Amino acid sequence: MIMKTRTAPNEIFVLTALLRRLPLRHKKRRLLEQNLAYYQRGFDGEKAVDRFTSAILKNNFTILHDVYLDSAFQIDTLIISPHCIFVVEIKNYKGTLTLDYKLNQFTREENGVITGFRNPILQATTNTILLTNWLAERNIHDIPTYPLFVISDPRTIIKVIPENRDISGEVMHGEYMPQHVMKVDRGSPHGQLHQKVGAIILRECGTYKFDYQRKYGIHSKDILGGVQCPGCGRLGMKRQYNSWICEKCRVVSKTEHKQALTDYFLLKKSWINNSECMQYLGITSKNLATKVLREQGLGYDNYHRRWHVNENQVNKTIV
Ligand SMILES: [Zn+2]
Repeated sequence: MIMKTRTAPNEIFVLTALLRRLPLRHKKRRLLEQNLAYYQRGFDGEKAVDRFTSAILKNNFTILHDVYLDSAFQIDTLIISPHCIFVVEIKNYKGTLTLDYKLNQFTREENGVITGFRNPILQATTNTILLTNWLAERNIHDIPTYPLFVISDPRTIIKVIPENRDISGEVMHGEYMPQHVMKVDRGSPHGQLHQKVGAIILRECGTYKFDYQRKYGIHSKDILGGVQCPGCGRLGMKRQYNSWICEKCRVVSKTEHKQALTDYFLLKKSWINNSECMQYLGITSKNLATKVLREQGLGYDNYHRRWHVNENQVNKTIV
């Protein structure tokens, strides 16, 4: 069976790192906190749906999470059955959703607050078209492909206007989705394609990198250096006797520089030289810089005399 597992989206790692390393008074902090909560909630919803999907479908279906193709489109979950493909968009909306197809107006009400959102099936449909084109470019044609919009929280109420419009084949709760997929698959007339198609997609899957500089207008020079104290959160632990010590709360750590370096590669650039590392960590020993960079599992580029992160490992597993 082919599977691609889900990890936290890149946005969560980047935003968490940004909040560690932007000045406390930075004007974008509140926005970043709100966005982080939004992405976290979305991720929780995706994980909740994954539990149903993998428990029921894992034996006869190829399930790929976080599919990112051509550096252009992202699919929350792709389910490839023996006969067809489902392009799944998952949302963790709470409260009451009103899908008004008369006015083409889509709103959700949560704790008395009403917010509008895009036609729920639109993104999944767009992704379905992009995927169909992508497969056609690889000479894979005529596989029935269906968009699905899945609501992760079973308590969310879905209201449809007009009431007699049947959206049961495209909008549903996560709990019901595996049964829907099995039902549609049984009624479809194609051969055993899913292993082959799944392998082709998996092979070309990229890793999505969230461009925070473009999205928020924050420059990488705004990112503060220093080792963060695990006790009080302050940046700038001092190196003393093979350990890091916080001058404010006196917490001692041996390994906190690892987090600092991970943040560097997430937020600044994919390589670092010794003197940049010394400056960033606030240390004066060249040997110490070499030691921590080596321990971080980085590759060394002899020509440029600098360390770099190894090619991002896409989280792929074939079991
Ligand atoms: Zn501290």
